[in-house]
Amino acid sequence: SDHSLDYPTSPQALDWDEHYPAFSGTGRSPEFADIGCGFGGLLIALAPLFPDTLMLGMEIRVQVSQYVKDRIAALRITSAVPSSPTPSPYQNVSIVRANAMKFLPNFFPKHSLSALFFLFPDPHFKSRKHKARIISPTLLAEYAYVLRPGGIIYTITDVRDLHEWMKSHIEVFQLFESISEDELRQEGKGAILDAVYTSTEEGKKVERNGGEKWLACFKRIEPTRKA
Ligand code: SAM
Repeated sequence: SDHSLDYPTSPQALDWDEHYPAFSGTGRSPEFADIGCGFGGLLIALAPLFPDTLMLGMEIRVQVSQYVKDRIAALRITSAVPSSPTPSPYQNVSIVRANAMKFLPNFFPKHSLSALFFLFPDPHFKSRKHKARIISPTLLAEYAYVLRPGGIIYTITDVRDLHEWMKSHIEVFQLFESISEDELRQEGKGAILDAVYTSTEEGKKVERNGGEKWLACFKRIEPTRKA
């Protein structure tokens, strides 16, 4: 339950300096958001690859989000390079405990994100539970608001039915269009895709169990471009 959660009243009310002390005073907010980040494998994999990009995980479970917080704090210490002129790795990654289905625009300014990740989201198999799914028309409007034009939604799941569901909902939404894995790799996003496939704890579990992974990605477009 999320009754005890506090939500920022607006992105400006959030103190990002507390999350990213090495970037304090820059006025920057996160550019990558991992929704339902679980144990944080994606962000931990991406942080050193994009040291100048701020990244935030959102996770609703208390213990899991605390684990990720501790994990990041430890990595910041153990990976610090003494007297290096550049900030030590993992300064660009942080986590909040939050229900990402609530008040997302209170966390991220309009058009501030270049990537939104939905990796192995909970499937909520039963029809009466579909409204609990993290992809829905209402939430897509919020995702379109926080993503900048050209920004990418990455989804991956081992549940084919959920894959079809996410794909069909996002494809009909005016502000998103499908983008293939090949196109993204040509755009230089291969390292991100590799991390999406293999870096998360859930993705590793699927691999161990020999399950299939279904990837679907979408580009945030300008309203005029889709007929
Ligand atoms: N993305 C991670 C991975 O690939 O390993 C975790 C996948 S796990 C199946 C789904 C995660 O989403 C869980 O950790 C769950 O607590 C979290 N979650 C579910 N609903 C959420 C919500 N509304 N807001 C934030 N996190 C949520």
